[in-house]
Parts: sequence; C-alpha cells; structure tokens
Amino acid sequence: MNSKIYLSSPHMGGTEQDYVNQAFDTNWIAPLGANVNGFEDDIQSYLAGDVQVAALSSGTAAIHLALIILGVDNGDEVICQSMTFSASANPIVYQGATPIFIDSEKDTWNMCPYHLEIAIKDRISKGKKPKAIIPVHLYGMPYKADEINAIARKYEIPVVEDSAEALGGSYKGRKCGTLGDISILSFNGNKVITTSAGGALVTKDKNVKAKAVFLASQARDAGAHYQHSHIGYNYRLSNICAGIGRGQMEVLDAHVALRRENNLFYKDIFDKTEGITVFTEPSNDVFSNHWLSCIQIDNTMCDWTSEKIRLKMDAKNIESRPLWKPMHLQPVFKDAPYYGEKEAESLFHSGLCLPSGSNLTSDNKERVFDVLKDMR
Ligand SMILES: *Cc1c(COP(=O)(O)O)cnc(C)c1O
Repeated sequence: MNSKIYLSSPHMGGTEQDYVNQAFDTNWIAPLGANVNGFEDDIQSYLAGDVQVAALSSGTAAIHLALIILGVDNGDEVICQSMTFSASANPIVYQGATPIFIDSEKDTWNMCPYHLEIAIKDRISKGKKPKAIIPVHLYGMPYKADEINAIARKYEIPVVEDSAEALGGSYKGRKCGTLGDISILSFNGNKVITTSAGGALVTKDKNVKAKAVFLASQARDAGAHYQHSHIGYNYRLSNICAGIGRGQMEVLDAHVALRRENNLFYKDIFDKTEGITVFTEPSNDVFSNHWLSCIQIDNTMCDWTSEKIRLKMDAKNIESRPLWKPMHLQPVFKDAPYYGEKEAESLFHSGLCLPSGSNLTSDNKERVFDVLKDMR
C-alpha cells in the first residue's frame, strides 16, 4: 500500500529545532521566554506594524479570551458563522452564552451579511442585542470584511475575527488577522503553520493584549504573594512550541505560495469539467491562502457525488473530507437560533476538501491526479 496522503500535515521549514534547542540551552522550558516574545514580534511585524499579539495555547483559547474581554457572560447571545469548525462556537457556550448561527453566502462560503443584519434586528426586537459577531475565513477564503464591519459598527457590536485558517491571506490588501476588533489565529498541527498546538489573540489595543496575557497566566494580581481578583486560565503558549513557531514564520509566505499552487493544480484538472468547480477567489479584493482546496460537485450535472469521490480517494489511501458540517445542524447546537436559507446545507452536501498541504510532493500529486482524472 502507498503511504497515506493527508489533507494537511505539518511542514517544517528547517530552523524550528534551532529555536527549540535555544530554549533547552537556556532552560526556558516554560510558557514564557525568548521564543514566546520573539514569536509574538514575528507575527506582529508580519501582520502590520501596529498590532499587538498574545501567543496562546490554542486558537480556541484565543476565542474564549476574546469573548471574556468583550464581556460575554451568562445569558448573553453571540452571533457566529454556521459553516465552520466547532471551535468557533464552543467558547460561546463556555461563557454560558447562546450562539446565534448565520448562513453562508454563495461566493465566499462565509457569513452572509444580509442574513447577519436580519438576525441582529430580530434579536434586538426580541430584547437582546448580541454581544459579539464571529465571522470566519473558511478554508482561508476571506469573508466580506467591509460589509460585516459596517453592519457591526451600525449596531455597535464588536467583531471577533476567526482567522484560524487564514494566516497569509488578505482582504483589499489588509492581512487576515487584522480585520476584527479582536482577531484570533491558530497554529494547530493541520493549519498553514503550526506550533504543534497553539494560537494567538491579535488586537490594536495594548490594554487588550495585557488583559489577555493576564487572564491566560492564571490572573495573578501584582505583588509577591498569590492573590486573585479574577478567575484565570492556563492559556499561555509554551516557550518550546513558540520556538517551532519562530521557525515556521520564516517559511510562511513560501508555504502559502505552495498551497496556492495546489489550488491551481486542482483548477487545471477540473477546468473543463461540467458539474465540478474548484473553490477560488470570487474577486480581486480577496487573496486566499488556500489552506484547504475544495471542490463543489453538482450531481445533477455529472455522475459524481462528493461521497463517491471521497471513497475513490480513500481506496488509494488519499485523505479527502466533506466540508464542515454547519453548526446549526449539529446535535449539540440543535436548540440554537439560526438565520438563513439552505446555502450552508447545500455546501455541506456538495463539497469536498482535497489534499492541500504545502508538503505535497509531485509524486503525491500524481497519485491524486490518477484518481481525479476519471471524474473529468
Ligand atoms: C482550527 C480552528 C479553530 C481552533 O483552533 P485550535 O488552535 O485548534 O484551538 C477555530 N476556528 C477555526 C475555523 C478553525 O479551523
């Protein structure tokens, strides 16, 4: 059997271990140290000069802290994109709040601004103004930040930008990760760059960063003895993991370029295929990192379905995966309000994620091509 080809696996650049060794050499085997500071600086200068970054243990932790800092509490409501990974929504529930899910739009697959505004008006008319809005750059495709931000400002609701999948992408020349009131990144093993596990909170406000670091380090008040006036969390990034991150930042743009090449590889394959379309930028306003390349299969126009293709790939030891199952269809969120039509559902039923790692070899691509050429 050929070795397994994964959707997206870690891809080291080469210098990661040097940074990890520095941590060992100086005995900073802790959730603070030179690598944590250096990694934060690297992300800050990559994103934009004026942002502040707090390195954390995961993207989920970053969303949780963002909601806490925005004052989301028991009984509140928070708006969230339905078509996403569950980690976008789970922290809402950690805070005892209720998620309000919004459908996707056709072109970016992300939060539909039209349904967002309908939802906000309806929740306000029912007596509760949502405390935050969580849009997501799905698979690295930037959401319509200007439209979403305009609605958010009109109703004075802060935006938590879930940029877990989108580091390296941009919207109208602005980097993903700088488009929300608070933004979050993930460095989980499957993401564009990884620290094994890790994440970051991004803000333009020094005080917000200070608050995030304070809460992430057990919320210890200043002073020699241990005194606590807030509930704290153990959410800081390890100095070992941050060392991996520093090495990964050196290859981020090169790896994004490789993921974008994968997208072109799939576009070439399905260029003239009736019924199969490769998900790609709808306009020049957006630049996707193409974290995952996805296809949509219209089975009224061809003999294929996403499940048939998935099984064909699986038989050759190649991983592919249905799109995220929308949150409003998840058993755990079955009682949460939902605004929209059936766009997210139809994407879920017709879409498939294909191998997209920056470490795909030409051999790997040949094996993928051998399966997919039959669908043309
Ligand atoms: C991966 C991911 C997260 C969570 O990040 P972790 O670092 O795995 O906790 C949140 N949102 C989206 C959309 C993700 O893909």
